[in-house]
Amino acid sequence: MTTPPRLEVQHLIRAFDGLRVVDDVSFTVAAGEVACLLGPSGCGKSTTLRIVAGVDMQDSGSIFVDGRLICDTVFRIPPERRAIGLMFQDFALFPHLPVSENVAFGLPGGFATNRARVGELLERVQMSNHVDSYPHELSGGEQQRVALARALAPKPRVLLMDEPFSGLDERLRDGIRDDTLALLKEERTAVLLVTHEPDEAMRMADQILLMRAGRIVQQGAPYNLYNAPVDRRAAAFFSDIN
Ligand code: ADP
Ligand code: MG
Repeated sequence: MTTPPRLEVQHLIRAFDGLRVVDDVSFTVAAGEVACLLGPSGCGKSTTLRIVAGVDMQDSGSIFVDGRLICDTVFRIPPERRAIGLMFQDFALFPHLPVSENVAFGLPGGFATNRARVGELLERVQMSNHVDSYPHELSGGEQQRVALARALAPKPRVLLMDEPFSGLDERLRDGIRDDTLALLKEERTAVLLVTHEPDEAMRMADQILLMRAGRIVQQGAPYNLYNAPVDRRAAAFFSDIN
Protein backbone atom coordinates (compact mmCIF):
# COMPACT_ATOMS: atom_id res chain seq x y z
CA MET A 1 0.00 0.00 0.00
CA THR A 2 1.30 3.45 -0.82
CA THR A 3 1.51 6.04 1.94
CA PRO A 4 -1.11 8.76 1.73
CA PRO A 5 0.08 12.37 1.30
CA ARG A 6 0.79 14.24 4.51
CA LEU A 7 -1.81 16.88 3.58
CA GLU A 8 -4.57 16.48 1.04
CA VAL A 9 -7.11 19.17 0.19
CA GLN A 10 -10.02 18.19 -2.04
CA HIS A 11 -12.40 20.55 -3.83
CA LEU A 12 -12.37 23.31 -1.24
CA ILE A 13 -14.98 26.01 -1.74
CA ARG A 14 -15.57 29.08 0.40
CA ALA A 15 -17.81 32.01 -0.50
CA PHE A 16 -18.34 35.36 1.22
CA ASP A 17 -21.56 37.17 0.30
CA GLY A 18 -22.13 34.81 -2.60
CA LEU A 19 -18.68 35.38 -4.06
CA ARG A 20 -16.36 32.37 -4.17
CA VAL A 21 -12.98 33.46 -2.82
CA VAL A 22 -11.81 29.84 -2.73
CA ASP A 23 -13.21 28.10 -5.78
CA ASP A 24 -12.64 24.34 -6.03
CA VAL A 25 -9.09 24.19 -4.71
CA SER A 26 -7.37 20.77 -4.59
CA PHE A 27 -3.73 19.85 -3.90
CA THR A 28 -1.50 17.51 -1.91
CA VAL A 29 1.68 18.11 0.09
CA ALA A 30 4.10 15.29 0.90
CA ALA A 31 6.25 14.91 4.02
CA GLY A 32 9.40 16.98 3.63
CA GLU A 33 7.86 19.03 0.84
CA VAL A 34 7.38 22.79 0.72
CA ALA A 35 4.34 23.78 -1.33
CA CYS A 36 3.95 27.51 -2.03
CA LEU A 37 0.51 28.95 -2.56
CA LEU A 38 1.47 31.90 -4.74
CA GLY A 39 -0.75 34.64 -6.08
CA PRO A 40 -1.66 38.33 -5.94
CA SER A 41 -3.22 39.96 -2.91
CA GLY A 42 -6.88 39.04 -2.44
CA CYS A 43 -6.82 35.83 -4.51
CA GLY A 44 -7.81 33.61 -1.57
CA LYS A 45 -4.50 32.32 -0.19
CA SER A 46 -5.03 33.18 3.47
CA THR A 47 -8.61 31.95 3.39
CA THR A 48 -7.39 28.58 2.11
CA LEU A 49 -4.80 28.43 4.88
CA ARG A 50 -7.28 29.43 7.57
CA ILE A 51 -9.64 26.65 6.50
CA VAL A 52 -6.84 24.06 6.65
CA ALA A 53 -5.89 25.42 10.09
CA GLY A 54 -9.50 25.08 11.22
CA VAL A 55 -10.07 28.73 12.12
CA ASP A 56 -12.41 29.17 9.16
CA MET A 57 -14.85 26.68 7.69
CA GLN A 58 -15.32 25.69 4.05
CA ASP A 59 -18.74 25.53 2.37
CA SER A 60 -17.71 22.25 0.77
CA GLY A 61 -14.66 20.09 0.25
CA SER A 62 -12.53 17.84 2.44
CA ILE A 63 -9.15 17.96 4.17
CA PHE A 64 -7.05 14.93 5.09
CA VAL A 65 -3.85 14.61 7.14
CA ASP A 66 -1.98 11.32 6.62
CA GLY A 67 -5.06 9.98 4.88
CA ARG A 68 -7.26 10.70 7.88
CA LEU A 69 -10.24 13.01 7.40
CA ILE A 70 -9.87 16.08 9.60
CA CYS A 71 -12.64 18.20 8.15
CA ASP A 72 -15.51 18.11 5.69
CA THR A 73 -18.95 19.67 5.77
CA VAL A 74 -20.33 17.30 8.41
CA PHE A 75 -17.25 16.30 10.39
CA ARG A 76 -14.69 18.60 11.97
CA ILE A 77 -11.68 18.00 14.20
CA PRO A 78 -10.93 21.17 16.20
CA PRO A 79 -7.77 23.15 15.30
CA GLU A 80 -5.79 22.09 18.38
CA ARG A 81 -6.16 18.40 17.56
CA ARG A 82 -5.10 18.60 13.89
CA ALA A 83 -1.32 18.36 14.49
CA ILE A 84 -1.04 21.40 12.23
CA GLY A 85 1.35 24.21 13.16
CA LEU A 86 0.90 27.85 12.27
CA MET A 87 3.22 30.71 11.59
CA PHE A 88 1.79 34.01 10.51
CA GLN A 89 3.37 37.29 9.50
CA ASP A 90 2.91 38.86 12.92
CA PHE A 91 4.52 35.83 14.53
CA ALA A 92 3.78 37.43 17.93
CA LEU A 93 5.80 35.75 20.64
CA PHE A 94 4.34 35.88 24.14
CA PRO A 95 5.90 39.08 25.54
CA HIS A 96 5.76 38.00 29.19
CA LEU A 97 7.57 34.68 28.57
CA PRO A 98 11.30 34.11 28.03
CA VAL A 99 12.48 32.50 24.81
CA SER A 100 12.68 29.08 26.52
CA GLU A 101 9.00 29.12 27.52
CA ASN A 102 7.92 30.60 24.20
CA VAL A 103 9.46 27.66 22.34
CA ALA A 104 8.10 25.15 24.88
CA PHE A 105 4.62 26.68 24.81
CA GLY A 106 2.97 23.92 22.75
CA LEU A 107 4.66 21.13 24.71
CA PRO A 108 3.04 19.51 27.77
CA GLY A 109 5.06 20.45 30.87
CA GLY A 110 6.69 23.52 29.34
CA PHE A 111 10.45 24.11 29.28
CA ALA A 112 11.17 22.18 32.51
CA THR A 113 10.21 18.85 30.96
CA ASN A 114 11.32 19.61 27.38
CA ARG A 115 14.82 21.03 27.79
CA ALA A 116 16.36 18.71 25.24
CA ARG A 117 13.91 19.47 22.41
CA VAL A 118 13.89 23.22 23.12
CA GLY A 119 17.69 23.29 23.37
CA GLU A 120 18.07 21.38 20.12
CA LEU A 121 15.77 23.76 18.24
CA LEU A 122 17.32 26.92 19.70
CA GLU A 123 20.73 25.66 18.69
CA ARG A 124 19.41 24.92 15.22
CA VAL A 125 18.08 28.48 14.80
CA GLN A 126 21.26 29.92 16.35
CA MET A 127 19.47 31.31 19.39
CA SER A 128 21.07 29.17 22.13
CA ASN A 129 22.56 32.20 23.84
CA HIS A 130 19.13 33.83 24.15
CA VAL A 131 17.32 31.14 26.16
CA ASP A 132 16.53 33.55 29.00
CA SER A 133 15.92 36.64 26.86
CA TYR A 134 12.50 38.20 26.49
CA PRO A 135 11.02 38.96 23.06
CA HIS A 136 11.47 42.76 23.41
CA GLU A 137 15.21 42.20 23.83
CA LEU A 138 15.44 40.54 20.40
CA SER A 139 15.67 41.95 16.88
CA GLY A 140 12.98 41.17 14.31
CA GLY A 141 15.11 38.50 12.71
CA GLU A 142 15.81 36.88 16.08
CA GLN A 143 12.12 36.88 16.98
CA GLN A 144 11.43 35.23 13.66
CA ARG A 145 13.92 32.46 14.46
CA VAL A 146 12.34 31.87 17.86
CA ALA A 147 8.88 31.79 16.27
CA LEU A 148 10.05 29.11 13.85
CA ALA A 149 11.47 27.04 16.73
CA ARG A 150 8.16 27.44 18.58
CA ALA A 151 6.12 26.34 15.55
CA LEU A 152 8.28 23.24 15.04
CA ALA A 153 8.65 22.24 18.71
CA PRO A 154 5.55 19.98 18.87
CA LYS A 155 6.62 18.30 15.60
CA PRO A 156 3.50 19.25 13.63
CA ARG A 157 2.55 16.95 10.76
CA VAL A 158 1.94 20.05 8.65
CA LEU A 159 3.20 23.60 9.08
CA LEU A 160 1.20 26.48 7.63
CA MET A 161 3.10 29.72 7.01
CA ASP A 162 1.32 32.88 5.89
CA GLU A 163 3.72 35.45 4.39
CA PRO A 164 6.15 34.60 7.21
CA PHE A 165 9.01 36.79 5.96
CA SER A 166 7.17 39.88 4.83
CA GLY A 167 7.65 41.77 8.11
CA LEU A 168 11.42 41.38 7.93
CA ASP A 169 14.07 43.82 6.83
CA GLU A 170 14.91 43.02 3.22
CA ARG A 171 18.62 42.66 3.98
CA LEU A 172 17.89 39.79 6.38
CA ARG A 173 15.23 38.09 4.33
CA ASP A 174 17.24 35.88 2.00
CA GLY A 175 19.40 34.56 4.81
CA ILE A 176 16.43 33.74 7.02
CA ARG A 177 14.60 32.12 4.11
CA ASP A 178 17.57 29.83 3.46
CA ASP A 179 18.02 28.95 7.15
CA THR A 180 14.29 28.32 7.53
CA LEU A 181 14.22 26.06 4.50
CA ALA A 182 17.19 24.05 5.77
CA LEU A 183 15.48 23.45 9.12
CA LEU A 184 12.14 22.54 7.51
CA LYS A 185 13.92 19.96 5.38
CA GLU A 186 15.76 18.55 8.39
CA GLU A 187 12.51 18.18 10.33
CA ARG A 188 10.80 16.66 7.26
CA THR A 189 7.76 18.84 7.88
CA ALA A 190 5.13 19.19 5.17
CA VAL A 191 4.82 22.93 4.61
CA LEU A 192 2.13 25.02 2.97
CA LEU A 193 3.62 28.49 2.57
CA VAL A 194 1.57 31.43 1.37
CA THR A 195 3.31 34.23 -0.49
CA HIS A 196 2.58 36.90 -3.10
CA GLU A 197 6.26 37.10 -4.07
CA PRO A 198 7.29 34.93 -7.02
CA ASP A 199 10.97 35.04 -6.07
CA GLU A 200 10.16 33.66 -2.61
CA ALA A 201 8.23 30.77 -4.15
CA MET A 202 11.01 30.12 -6.67
CA ARG A 203 13.54 30.06 -3.87
CA MET A 204 11.65 27.90 -1.37
CA ALA A 205 9.11 25.71 -3.13
CA ASP A 206 9.29 22.12 -4.28
CA GLN A 207 5.86 22.73 -5.70
CA ILE A 208 4.14 26.00 -6.61
CA LEU A 209 0.36 26.31 -6.58
CA LEU A 210 -0.32 29.41 -8.65
CA MET A 211 -3.60 30.95 -7.52
CA ARG A 212 -5.78 33.56 -9.16
CA ALA A 213 -9.29 34.68 -8.17
CA GLY A 214 -9.85 31.66 -5.92
CA ARG A 215 -8.59 29.05 -8.36
CA ILE A 216 -5.33 27.21 -8.82
CA VAL A 217 -4.46 28.03 -12.43
CA GLN A 218 -1.18 26.12 -12.59
CA GLN A 219 0.79 23.81 -10.35
CA GLY A 220 4.17 22.17 -10.59
CA ALA A 221 7.88 22.55 -9.92
CA PRO A 222 9.12 26.18 -9.87
CA TYR A 223 11.28 25.52 -12.90
CA ASN A 224 8.26 24.37 -14.92
CA LEU A 225 6.11 27.36 -14.04
CA TYR A 226 8.96 29.73 -14.82
CA ASN A 227 9.75 28.10 -18.16
CA ALA A 228 6.26 27.18 -19.28
CA PRO A 229 3.80 29.63 -17.69
CA VAL A 230 0.19 28.70 -18.35
CA ASP A 231 -0.73 32.05 -19.91
CA ARG A 232 0.44 35.62 -20.41
CA ARG A 233 -0.56 36.74 -16.94
CA ALA A 234 1.43 33.94 -15.34
CA ALA A 235 4.38 34.82 -17.57
CA ALA A 236 4.17 38.47 -16.53
CA PHE A 237 3.97 37.44 -12.87
CA PHE A 238 7.26 35.56 -13.12
CA SER A 239 8.97 37.94 -15.51
CA ASP A 240 10.53 40.26 -12.92
CA ILE A 241 12.51 37.45 -11.29
CA ASN A 242 16.18 37.46 -12.11
P1 ADP B 1 -5.02 36.68 0.07
O1 ADP B 1 -4.51 36.02 1.30
O2 ADP B 1 -4.70 35.92 -1.18
O3 ADP B 1 -4.57 38.10 -0.03
P2 ADP B 1 -7.64 36.38 1.30
O4 ADP B 1 -7.84 34.92 1.40
O5 ADP B 1 -7.23 37.08 2.56
O6 ADP B 1 -6.63 36.71 0.12
O7 ADP B 1 -8.98 37.06 0.80
C1 ADP B 1 -9.61 36.67 -0.40
C2 ADP B 1 -10.86 37.50 -0.60
O8 ADP B 1 -11.82 37.14 0.39
C3 ADP B 1 -10.64 38.99 -0.48
O9 ADP B 1 -11.42 39.64 -1.42
C4 ADP B 1 -11.11 39.29 0.93
O10 ADP B 1 -11.56 40.60 1.03
C5 ADP B 1 -12.22 38.28 1.11
N1 ADP B 1 -12.43 37.89 2.51
C6 ADP B 1 -11.54 37.24 3.29
N2 ADP B 1 -12.04 36.99 4.51
C7 ADP B 1 -13.29 37.52 4.50
C8 ADP B 1 -14.35 37.58 5.48
N3 ADP B 1 -14.20 37.07 6.70
N4 ADP B 1 -15.50 38.18 5.10
C9 ADP B 1 -15.66 38.69 3.87
N5 ADP B 1 -14.73 38.65 2.91
C10 ADP B 1 -13.55 38.09 3.21
MG1 MG C 1 -3.24 36.84 2.80
